[in-house]
Amino acid sequence: MALATNLGYPRIGPNRELKRATESYWKGELSVEELLATGAELRHRAWQIQRDAAIDVIPCNDFSFYDHVLDTIALLGVVPPRYGWPSETTIPPYYEILDPVNLLGSLPVRGGTTPALVDLDTYFAMARGAQREGLDVSAMEMTKWFDTNYHYIVPEFAAGQTFDVSSPKVFAELAEARAAGIGAKPVLLGPLSFIRLGKSRASGFDPLEELLDPIVEGYARVIERLSSMGAEWIQLDEPFLVTDCSPQERAALEHAYGKLAGAKGNARLILQTYFGDVGDAYPGLAELPVDALGLDLVRGPQNLELVRKHGVPDDKWLVAGVVDGRNVWITDLDSALMCLHELAGLMGGTDRLMVAPSCSLLHVPIDVRPETELDPELLSWLSFANQKLEEVAVLTRGVNEGREAIASVLAENRKALESRGTSKRTRNPTVRGRLTELGKGNGYQRSSFAERRAVQRRRLGLPSRLATTSIGSYPQTASVRQMRARRRKHEIPEAEYEKFIEEQTRKVIELQEDIGLDVLVHGEFERSDMVEYFAQQLEGYAFTQHGWVQSYGSRYVRPPILFGDINRPEPMTVRWFQYAQSLTDRPVKGMLTGPVTMMQWSFVRDDQPRSETCRQLALAVRDEVLDLEAAGAKVIQVDEPALREGQPLRRSDWPDYLKWAVAAFRLATGGVADETQIHTHMCYSEFNDIIDSIAAMDADVLLIENARSDAKLLEVFREFNYEQEIGPGVYDIHSPRVPSVEEMGAQIRASLGVLDDGQVWVNPDCGLKTRTYEECVPALRNMVEAARQVRATLNT
Ligand code: GLN
Ligand code: ZN
Repeated sequence: MALATNLGYPRIGPNRELKRATESYWKGELSVEELLATGAELRHRAWQIQRDAAIDVIPCNDFSFYDHVLDTIALLGVVPPRYGWPSETTIPPYYEILDPVNLLGSLPVRGGTTPALVDLDTYFAMARGAQREGLDVSAMEMTKWFDTNYHYIVPEFAAGQTFDVSSPKVFAELAEARAAGIGAKPVLLGPLSFIRLGKSRASGFDPLEELLDPIVEGYARVIERLSSMGAEWIQLDEPFLVTDCSPQERAALEHAYGKLAGAKGNARLILQTYFGDVGDAYPGLAELPVDALGLDLVRGPQNLELVRKHGVPDDKWLVAGVVDGRNVWITDLDSALMCLHELAGLMGGTDRLMVAPSCSLLHVPIDVRPETELDPELLSWLSFANQKLEEVAVLTRGVNEGREAIASVLAENRKALESRGTSKRTRNPTVRGRLTELGKGNGYQRSSFAERRAVQRRRLGLPSRLATTSIGSYPQTASVRQMRARRRKHEIPEAEYEKFIEEQTRKVIELQEDIGLDVLVHGEFERSDMVEYFAQQLEGYAFTQHGWVQSYGSRYVRPPILFGDINRPEPMTVRWFQYAQSLTDRPVKGMLTGPVTMMQWSFVRDDQPRSETCRQLALAVRDEVLDLEAAGAKVIQVDEPALREGQPLRRSDWPDYLKWAVAAFRLATGGVADETQIHTHMCYSEFNDIIDSIAAMDADVLLIENARSDAKLLEVFREFNYEQEIGPGVYDIHSPRVPSVEEMGAQIRASLGVLDDGQVWVNPDCGLKTRTYEECVPALRNMVEAARQVRATLNT
């Protein structure tokens, strides 16, 4: 009989309980005991929901107070020395000193009886930095989890590290689940992914080569212990396997799982992959001494082909991820069932089959039911975590008991899918017609950059070298956020709100003139967020009230849902641009979010290719660009900070993605006259391998993060002849510190080492919204002064 399973349940709680608890704990308003109790309550609730949904194999250790990669860092005691851990010199292995009470609690606390375990404060110090007696450290690096918007803490590896079990969390949670009558399946990040998601503290040090054995030994001890506690299944997540793995990595995998198999005792190991197909690694995976293979059949349809071609060995289970764990739409139950039947056929029965979501449900909101303000038709197309579990369960019943057993659910599902397929709200013939028309000429009508540049220079009257600007936002002070919140709750008249925003805008225009910046911005005070603000003004988008997902730690986002054809009924930003421009003679930038970023930070419809959706967004941005131009904007910026993260996990898929992503940007910006200057901004600097695509976007000015990249960015310009203008950021806005004139002058001169002086702009790394005026005003003054000083040293 097939079993229903889940790979991970959202941790944050239906009412964001985890955020409240952790943040109160950080402020010292909640005790450790209270925080741990909230964690336990959330876990129990999640297990209960999964049990009620008829999930047979329920995960544990998917809960986390911050991040599951950080949990792994704690589990193996890979705490970087700067966090001052361990604070005692003797480190008895945890299992000799751990008493049952401790095991059933959760993370131990510094100063408790078990100093060799990573305590909660060290754990949070790694996550967020700490400033307390005897410790002043910044947080560990954080980065995006594969191509999602979830961020994990990056493990740091160094020679000579040891990997002793240093956190009882996974054992405690297993014990806790068992005490609650749940025979839970502990979930761990697998060793290969753990190593590959980390970075080395020394260059030229490959942890895979140097540390594989000790790390695997650490894992083996964990697995042995879980097995001895009675864990029936243990899930090892290896999402790294859906990227391009080298032969060395595959060999390491084989070596590691060979060792782990020796430690598993009676437990059964699941090698779980997700976010794509495993490609030609499949035959090797099928040979590994694990008991089950988990495949994502939603984002990796190729996986089905692989199973068809190579089969599943007789001694292995298959965890079939047929319910999309990354997106919010209902499953097509008929096709999922067909796929499961086929798999059962290939495996000679359902006995070694598990039905599952395609990945952890961490990436979707918890429950559709509280969304009472959504239109019922749209609501019937949506499935969040709890609904996805019901889908998994009903599909499991369908395979086990036959189609008839779930006939009524299937009928209802068909009805909803049909309404989605034919609904007028998902299809706008005007938009489709316009895109077909534009498609013929690609919508790009600008002259060569050299020609554009000449007319733009004449018109804008900027310094011929090292013009200065900023990226867009200015500090979002408490009063700005408060006013926006009051407006949202209809607590203030619209006129009062508008007056407030005008006031802020006026101040920031005056400030920029005073600082002496050349191209100004309006400050973005009216924007809550760079996607939501636009989405709210576009047709084809819907918004949840409670649809939060974890972005990192206690920061959650509520991505808008892009469900239908995108249309821009009216100008979205012209009013604020016009107001700002009316206050100054210097050019103010029109400021927009680009199509790829709009898409990347939304839940996107899955009933048409993403490339098509992106084109529709591009058309809406194009309409806005042209309206801004008509309203007098001489410079228009279209931000694409998410271009890089949207890149597929496998290199072979890059060319296609880059082709349509670049085309979308060109469609969005390509309708303006030569004399209108197009800026773009991206918040990453590692684009050396896609520089030709960046150049093909053909923005007149590219403003890009650089201050933290140790001039890695600049290297690319030694080789690649970048024609357009470019502003490598000289001010790291992620830090409160104020860089000096000399420091920024040195950064500018470094840029001039590889770029022409007429080509370089001077600007910060990113928007200033997270900074205070006290921090950014002196920094910007120093930046303008640095530009002036360097300019003075150049020959005229
Ligand atoms: N224009 C935006 C800002 O300055 C860009 C933000 C971003 O790159 N994420 O805030
Ligand atoms: Zn940025």
